[in-house]
Amino acid sequence: MRYLVISDVHANLEALDAVLAAAGSYDHALVLGDLVGYGADPNAVIDRVRALPAATFIRGNHDKVGAGLENTDGFNYLARHAITWTINTLTAERRQWLAALPQGPVVVDDLVEICHGAPFDEDVYIFDDLDAMRALRVARRPLCLFGHTHVVAGYQVTKEMRSVGDIQDTPIHIPPDGTARFLVNCGAVGQPRDGDPRAAYGIVDTSTQTLSLARVEYDLAAAQAKIVAAGLPEVLAQRLAVGR
Ligand code: ZN
Repeated sequence: MRYLVISDVHANLEALDAVLAAAGSYDHALVLGDLVGYGADPNAVIDRVRALPAATFIRGNHDKVGAGLENTDGFNYLARHAITWTINTLTAERRQWLAALPQGPVVVDDLVEICHGAPFDEDVYIFDDLDAMRALRVARRPLCLFGHTHVVAGYQVTKEMRSVGDIQDTPIHIPPDGTARFLVNCGAVGQPRDGDPRAAYGIVDTSTQTLSLARVEYDLAAAQAKIVAAGLPEVLAQRLAVGR
């Protein structure tokens, strides 16, 4: 079984399409939340992921606010401006679909579980070893995938906690004997914040118990032009170019 892992699409249709084209064949998509917010194509992104032949979804914090489940109190100015635009742009039917997305964590199979922020709280950011240790303590599967920070990161717990080395280029192998467990953020599709503007995604191959991360260029100029044309803050277009 091959899983495509995508998170934090943030209404960036160009980035999503580039990932879907680059990912090759896969059996099932794991969609880790924040489909909307910041970008200019919330309706089209929702339609695209709903049309995936097989997928498991969880919601992100922007999905909750976009769906009307929560107010914008926890958002900064930019996020609030963008999600208010998103709420007004989404059709009622798509808002209802967003509102029905399940809360993470969700166990996918014996190997994988997914969450948006952390397995103990969907809204918590995992930024460092301490956050990761808390998360790994409650993770129920050898490979826990998360999103929310928009930054590629990996943590491994064996006898002692450590960050996984350069996970961008080296596939992570999950030992079948259960001697190591992993917590990995495959990065953001639609708004990377790790200095690399390319869209990020992951592929899990359950037959070899391997997770590989990948980046792909997309039509950045088109996504930026739509943000500006929509009247969203221009900084949301500019940040896409620098991956911050
Ligand atoms: Zn996000």
